[in-house]
Amino acid sequence: MNLLTRGIIKDNQDCKCGFCGEEEEDSKHLFLECSMVRWIWRACAKWWGINVTLGADCWNTFQVTGRELKEKGVREGWDCIWNSLVWTVWLARNQKTFQGKEFNREKLLELIQLKSFQWITAKKERYAFTLTDWFLNPVACLEDGLRKRRVPYK
Ligand SMILES: [Zn+2]
Repeated sequence: MNLLTRGIIKDNQDCKCGFCGEEEEDSKHLFLECSMVRWIWRACAKWWGINVTLGADCWNTFQVTGRELKEKGVREGWDCIWNSLVWTVWLARNQKTFQGKEFNREKLLELIQLKSFQWITAKKERYAFTLTDWFLNPVACLEDGLRKRRVPYK
């Protein structure tokens, strides 16, 4: 029984994804299958210089995408991207659904980059890179932070 048959929503259009308007919205569509969100995943992967294979569900995708990154600090950084992508898409979906606010995919990518920068630099004091550095080469930023950690304290 879906939301329509249970009387929670009034017509079938209410079930459609707010981003693409083509498919019924559920978590798999919203975070993995929506054409707009797939573009964002590909853009994040290109930004990181990695391949991203979207899995059968969100948890599977989280595990699969992190597995390719061997360096723990870099993997932590990618986890941060993953979390900020899901969080940003969810907030944008809610703002569109409940406030009618429009987002384009480039704006969402920028928000993901900014949010992940704020989260990663707040979490690790050794990551002393700028927002510009993060936008240009996030992996180099994380690798630099890892090298600093390995230098013995004098
Ligand atoms: Zn969609």
